[in-house]
Amino acid sequence: MSIIKEVIKNFFSKPSTIEYPRKAEIPVEKDFRGEFYADLKKCTGCTLCALECPARAIEMKKLPENIKLKHNPRGLYPVVNYMTCVYCYRCVRVCPVDAFITTPNYKLSSVKEVYSEEKTLKTLGMG
Ligand code: SF4
Ligand code: SF4
Repeated sequence: MSIIKEVIKNFFSKPSTIEYPRKAEIPVEKDFRGEFYADLKKCTGCTLCALECPARAIEMKKLPENIKLKHNPRGLYPVVNYMTCVYCYRCVRVCPVDAFITTPNYKLSSVKEVYSEEKTLKTLGMG
């Protein structure tokens, strides 16, 4: 008898699941640790973030030849692999010049690797 009651109750109640991402906007806290990338206007290419990353999700890359930055004499910048990253934000905290731009964007799932490179280069109006 109780099973029949349960079935009837569930039949008239709203679904417990949501059709993500087609129908749902999931609210997150403002300080949710989501997508982040380095701002080349600040990054000095010191590599500390890559050294401190516990997931080895940061690779230091050479800046494109046509970009010369006084504050980044070695011409290096961090590229985050969002598929390897565990979003601990250790890199964000250790950066001596506060160069990472952080966002609460969590919509990063993908069937291929996704990197921060494009967004980082865009901080100089490139990419
Ligand atoms: S958030 Fe954590 S895991 Fe991701 S790149 Fe930074 S230090 Fe590495
Ligand atoms: S720790 Fe900061 S300044 Fe150093 S490479 Fe990483 S983002 Fe750039």
